[in-house]
Amino acid sequence: MTQLAAPAVDTHCPYCALQCGMRLTGARVEPRQFPTNGGGLCQKGWTSGSLLTSASRLTTPLVRVDGELRPASWDIALDLIAHKIKALQAMHGADSIAVFGGGGLTNEKSYQLGKFARVALGTSQIDYNGRFCMSSAAAAGIRAFGLDRGMPFPVTDVGKADAVLLIGANPAETMPPFIQHLTNAARSGGLIVVDPRRTPTAEQATLHLQPRPGTDLALALGILHAVVADGHLRHDYVAERTTGFDAAWRIAAAWWPERVERVTGVAASDQRRAAAILAAASNAYVLTARGTEQHARGTDMVGAWINLAMSLGLPGTPGNGYGCLTGQGNGQGGREHGQKADQLPGYRKIDDPAARAHVAGVWGVDPDSLPGPGRSAYELLDALGTETGPKALMVFGSNVIVSAPSAGSVGDRLSSLDFLVVADFVLSETAARADVVLPVTQWAEEDGTMTNLEGRVLLRTKALSAPDGVRGDLDVLRELAIRLGQPEERFPVEPETVFAELRRASAGGVADYAGVTYDRLRAGEALHWPVPSEDHPGTPRVFLDRFSTPDGRARFAAVDHTGPAEPIDDEYPLIATTGRVLQHYQSGAQTRLVEELLNAVPEVFIEVHPDTAERAGLAEGVLARVVSRRGEMRARVRQVSSMRTDTVFLPFHFPGEQRANLLTNPALDPTSRMPEFKVCAVRLEVS
Ligand code: SF4
Repeated sequence: MTQLAAPAVDTHCPYCALQCGMRLTGARVEPRQFPTNGGGLCQKGWTSGSLLTSASRLTTPLVRVDGELRPASWDIALDLIAHKIKALQAMHGADSIAVFGGGGLTNEKSYQLGKFARVALGTSQIDYNGRFCMSSAAAAGIRAFGLDRGMPFPVTDVGKADAVLLIGANPAETMPPFIQHLTNAARSGGLIVVDPRRTPTAEQATLHLQPRPGTDLALALGILHAVVADGHLRHDYVAERTTGFDAAWRIAAAWWPERVERVTGVAASDQRRAAAILAAASNAYVLTARGTEQHARGTDMVGAWINLAMSLGLPGTPGNGYGCLTGQGNGQGGREHGQKADQLPGYRKIDDPAARAHVAGVWGVDPDSLPGPGRSAYELLDALGTETGPKALMVFGSNVIVSAPSAGSVGDRLSSLDFLVVADFVLSETAARADVVLPVTQWAEEDGTMTNLEGRVLLRTKALSAPDGVRGDLDVLRELAIRLGQPEERFPVEPETVFAELRRASAGGVADYAGVTYDRLRAGEALHWPVPSEDHPGTPRVFLDRFSTPDGRARFAAVDHTGPAEPIDDEYPLIATTGRVLQHYQSGAQTRLVEELLNAVPEVFIEVHPDTAERAGLAEGVLARVVSRRGEMRARVRQVSSMRTDTVFLPFHFPGEQRANLLTNPALDPTSRMPEFKVCAVRLEVS
């Protein structure tokens, strides 16, 4: 039975990276003033308390026997996992065990999961679902600025701007309280939204640019061209604070707005108007999100938008900037502490000898014993069960069977594994396929820190005790580590103790948490990393003096438009693009449990222009069969006259035959390894 641990506890929402402030009294949610949400919550946040009392909650481990998942004791489940790991590693080596994490895990869990993989398992095969979230923005940010902090300024700074260029973002549905930070720009006639769909966010824009999906890079080049040709280039800024402009301009010079119009469908006059609005603003921000990042050339697409921001002198200038709207709750922290295939805590590179020596020292192991870089998320999933790939997978906080691209083939790969373990608080679609399911705590049942979209470290405080039979992920990792021969003290279970070690591991790294303490967070200090010491006030704004590159200057990227990985043709004549709805979060494993949210959007739909629907013989409300080169799914037709006639839209939160990701293309960005979720060629048929 759930027990009250405290009468009222100030904490944060379990979902997105805005991490809205809320107060929990038992499972009752009230909004709370916090800078990111200004006292607001969206429907997901308001109803999140019902997750804590959900009848679908798992309270006992499940072990597959004769093809069925059956209740088992924790000892039986953990002993079985340890036995299987040892047997598979004895036969196939350390890398035969893979680990897949999540961007919703706390910093402490992300950190401990990375250490568990590298030390207790000795495997290089670890990555996480954040690779599918904002890895392209991270890669582009590092390339341009030498550092990736989603927003290198507080969210509230955006609220003071009179112009905001929002690309591939729909916060009116994905993080509604964020809209308050766009009000000033909208009132000033400076809110520009780039989105192939006329979303609720685009409805509020001064200027909505509606490009053909996959042509964002060309559009960014066209607006950059207009900035230069129309005399808006900030020559002083470009000369003093950047390098590489000439090479970038040589490409953009060939993309005059009329040429861009032919590729993107965005009128040349609108491109020039966008350039003029941004140039005339006293304060302006360029913000990207998944719509322009989830592409096989996502890093270059974001790089092109950063080029535009730099041509206007925005990054690193007070009251202006470029930033990325992180999606998952701990998408930022999740990639800083060692869940990524190529990184160690502190956002350190795993192949850097100094980084390895530092982290190995904190962990008390030989640096040479640490594995090197592993496979990125999709490559890891695609290798499962193959001759050279992992034979077992351990999943923490992710539902890959719904959220990964080409989900049908990912399902096949999961089926080919010798052993699948899933730790979750409900029987997600991925957990339902596991050999062992471990019931773990959820957000309000333990302490832990998160790092929000502006790089601010937050404390989520325990508000409730977990139901009997449920264990924390840190406890699970320790129990498994001990069974694998690790000393108990190397895997503590108290979040604050783990965080103290994380601080030491991150010290001196890019994402330096050395000066962040639970006490400072409890006192309400606004600590944006880097925080190198306990008397350091944190760094709400980075780049004001210099960028984090060797010469302190931001770098233009010489990037050109090439188009999507998969063009449309006669057989697959439409572009499908995927996204989110207000009521659901990620794979929907949590929000589909909330009656109010499920009732509001109970099933997948497909947005189609009426002319496109008519050509396919699809009336409003019928089920359409949507077919791509990778698979097919069914979705209910919604005719939307503002859709482009060459494009259809599908939300990706639904399971089984309703999975939009049965269609999506796993073509990967060469730098970030981001799949091309946002463009795939499809055809529509009557179901
Ligand atoms: Fe806020 Fe995001 Fe939670 Fe909605 S889902 S309440 S926007 S943190």
